[in-house]
Amino acid sequence: MELREIGEFGLINRIRKLMAASDPGLIQGIGDDVAVIDLGRKVLLVTTDILIERIHFDRSWIDPYRLGKKALTVNLSDIASMGGTPRYFLISLGLPKNLPLSFISSFYRGLKEGAKRFHVDLIGGDTSLSQKIVINICLLGEGKKGRVLFRKGARVGDDLFVSGTLGDAALGLKILQKEGLAGRPMGLIKKHLSPCPRIQLGQAIAGHRLATAMIDISDGLLIDTTHLLEESHVGARVWEDRIPLSRLYQKWVHSYSKDLYRIALTGGEDYELLFTAPPETRKEISTLALSSKIPITWIGKILPQKEGFRIIRKDGKDYSPSRMGFEHFR
Ligand code: ADP
Ligand code: MG
Repeated sequence: MELREIGEFGLINRIRKLMAASDPGLIQGIGDDVAVIDLGRKVLLVTTDILIERIHFDRSWIDPYRLGKKALTVNLSDIASMGGTPRYFLISLGLPKNLPLSFISSFYRGLKEGAKRFHVDLIGGDTSLSQKIVINICLLGEGKKGRVLFRKGARVGDDLFVSGTLGDAALGLKILQKEGLAGRPMGLIKKHLSPCPRIQLGQAIAGHRLATAMIDISDGLLIDTTHLLEESHVGARVWEDRIPLSRLYQKWVHSYSKDLYRIALTGGEDYELLFTAPPETRKEISTLALSSKIPITWIGKILPQKEGFRIIRKDGKDYSPSRMGFEHFR
């Protein structure tokens, strides 16, 4: 049997069973956006993400400055999804011999800019020779005990919300793949190259105890919703015509897809927050959207697990999403 047959998520499930952890201080191990460790009144949050050249990025599209910032952002977004505060990070780099030193200095300038903006300090890492550029960051953060949000926790009857707009980054990537950096519009390309982690919004959602579960959207709405549903042991329905789309997305998507919603449903790297909350918090959530100036859209409803996960089309017909989004090895 080969890896391609079980895919990335099948592999993670096997590792999770094989390595089952037993430490009583471990509040959350494998299976969420970050690991959560009990420190008394506080919790320690730990997450790691890898970026590999020609899998996650292409040097002809992304300059080293933006790459540095983005490497940090993908990790910050996982802390955001718990409602936590990022604090320290380590970075390990695999680098080819012929890499210009100017690449590394620009990369670290981008990293420093991101670190300054989100108040995190670099505290170490590792460096090795490699054929392709490999970037691995491990980010540590903290949260208040009882205020952290997990993928598990969604309850039947909850509403499903998403921040921002979806599909912009994936459409930006398609434009880059077809037309390179000369492609248009730059607004969509930038969403792919320079995503923004929703740290403050995540903290507000968790801090006000508005939500029951939360995840960040890195692999695509359908896949990441599925992760939240599986961990919470519930089902859901999502109304396709409620998916928030930006004006740029609506204007340009038709050159890349016949279906208006497909890229928004399956495309990754928006780094928006997806969360569930009981209907009585709707008003507070609208107030939060207004004060944070980030749109928050009610896109679906949590149902019993036996109802599965279904997408309702505008014409009222529904379907169960099959080819859902990005998964490594598939
Ligand atoms: P995210 O997209 O939020 O970064 P992933 O889908 O990468 O989350 O990971 C899901 C869970 O699986 C996380 O708890 C992560 O730490 C864990 N995980 C991923 N890869 C491995 C691995 N090779 N070994 C152990 N745990 C892993
Ligand atoms: Mg995540």
